[in-house]
Amino acid sequence: MLIQVLPDSVAARIAAGEVIERPASVVKELVENSFDAGATRIRVDLIDGGRESISVRDDGSGIEADELELAFERFATSKLSSDDELMGIDTLGFRGEALPSIASVAIVEMQSTARDSDVGMDILLEFGEKRKSEQVGAPAGTSITVRSLFQNVPARKRFLSSASGELSRIHSVLTNFALARPDVAIEFVADGTTRWATGGTGTLRDVIVTLHGAETASLMLEVTTDADESEMGVSGLVGSPSISRGNRNFISLNVNGRWFQNRRISYAIEQAYHGFLAGRRFPIAALALRIPHGDVDVNVHPTKAEVKFLREQAVFGMVQKAVRQALLDHAPIPMVVPPRAGEGMGPGSGGIAGTAVPTMANPLWPNPLVNPAPPQSMATSDEGITNEFIAPTTPRATLPVLRLLGQAHETYLIAEGPDGLYMIDQHAAHERVLFEEIVAKANASDPESQHLLVPETFDLSPDQEQALIKVADQLAQMGFALEEFGPRAILVRAVPRVLGDKSASKALLEMLDGVIELVSPDAWTERTYATLACHSSVTAGRRMNDDEARELLKRLEATEQPNTCPHGRPTMIHMSESAMAREFQRT
Ligand code: ADP
Ligand code: MG
Repeated sequence: MLIQVLPDSVAARIAAGEVIERPASVVKELVENSFDAGATRIRVDLIDGGRESISVRDDGSGIEADELELAFERFATSKLSSDDELMGIDTLGFRGEALPSIASVAIVEMQSTARDSDVGMDILLEFGEKRKSEQVGAPAGTSITVRSLFQNVPARKRFLSSASGELSRIHSVLTNFALARPDVAIEFVADGTTRWATGGTGTLRDVIVTLHGAETASLMLEVTTDADESEMGVSGLVGSPSISRGNRNFISLNVNGRWFQNRRISYAIEQAYHGFLAGRRFPIAALALRIPHGDVDVNVHPTKAEVKFLREQAVFGMVQKAVRQALLDHAPIPMVVPPRAGEGMGPGSGGIAGTAVPTMANPLWPNPLVNPAPPQSMATSDEGITNEFIAPTTPRATLPVLRLLGQAHETYLIAEGPDGLYMIDQHAAHERVLFEEIVAKANASDPESQHLLVPETFDLSPDQEQALIKVADQLAQMGFALEEFGPRAILVRAVPRVLGDKSASKALLEMLDGVIELVSPDAWTERTYATLACHSSVTAGRRMNDDEARELLKRLEATEQPNTCPHGRPTMIHMSESAMAREFQRT
């Protein structure tokens, strides 16, 4: 066998495969270079989701005229000179791989003028071959355009998604950058239209206003660790539990200004929401970690998307504690720490407080993680006492006729049935009732709409605006009458009657966020009905008079699935007469 060193052009193409996978990776590398060059303004322009062209222009330091060609040599970098420095990197790039990799699989033109120089250079390379290099007069900074990506690697080109698929990946990359660097003004332009632009004010909340809208931004809670506590710290914003999301994509992390992904640290944040969020709901978070450079290894991943912490456990603990503290300080929902299994309310009571009740974490959002719901039929406590708290009983079991005994904590209705006691969560029960009524009306194509005396107006984020365009027809069918009201602002003239005097904007924003997160239209429709039911229902913490409470029980009895709310949480806890007898040691 003849062993050969690969020609440079082939080696570069192989290396490119590691770093440059799709337009979003090009954007990532180019914007990182702009950050490293100290840019305060960065503009990203795409045509056809980056499949046709990607341009990035910045007002950074620029490149000296006689060094521009060198920037396209492999392992040419201005950021690192010896391997000692690898463990203390404070720039985003350092391998000198990105430009040559991109140039080997695309047509690249770069113009750059160093800050204190009056001539700039313009260089053009086609698939790694230099075609042009000439002096130009250009403003200080750098502008680079990448065209025909992967035209010489058809196998890779075939793997690209549609323009909108690539665009949404790029949106996600830029979103994370914007959240990591509120001090830099980033403009995102697609096919000539500005999608969004941050102001570079240095204030994270301003970035959230741009990306998620003013409503969400106002519900973000400050996270901080004492500045003087130690060399490590975390700061940023996390969402109040009322604006949770259906997946983890809204958790954005950076360490010393470098965006990164790390399952364990995301998990630390999720853990901090224990008892605040229902199962399968995830927080919105944008957190900046401050860690001594020597304690972070950024050289563990080809695209540097992941980092390794020397003291991961300490970082985990710090993040969890800081987020938890922010929630406890600000979150509006009162917390009750659930007793652990076996730690009952008194001797011999292991069966009661210790095991079954999945609703103790807080009144509105029982968290199955904190206090797992018992199996459907029977639960066994630590002491081996069987326990017949059933929540819910069996799906589709119909509810017996109940007699109202009263209301507890302005949140639960207490009722008696042929077999024992029922504690009913008034909000969850009302949600179930309204949900089934809404579905029935929708199936009969008979939505009831109600005009607002005073129309409501609210602002949309760019994502929400796109989402609204997609589902405008369905919303109209549900009974919403919406009008455009200036750029990215909406006027609500009418709402589904069931919503009554509740906030239309809150319900609508949640529905639109559902479009952003979910893929299938069916899943969206069902969830939207649930959202409408949720926003229309009586809340926990409201006194209900006996007539209202009886009416609610009657309507709950008439539902098809009385035992769970449309989100799958239990509407009631049932304690059978025999379980009571056993707890009181009557048997
Ligand atoms: P790395 O970022 O790892 O150093 P790159 O291939 O991304 O490698 O870039 C090579 C070099 O080109 C950088 O080290 C930097 O000196 C220069 N460079 C690239 N982009 C810019 C830019 N936007 N502004 C100023 N200098 C740049
Ligand atoms: Mg780089």
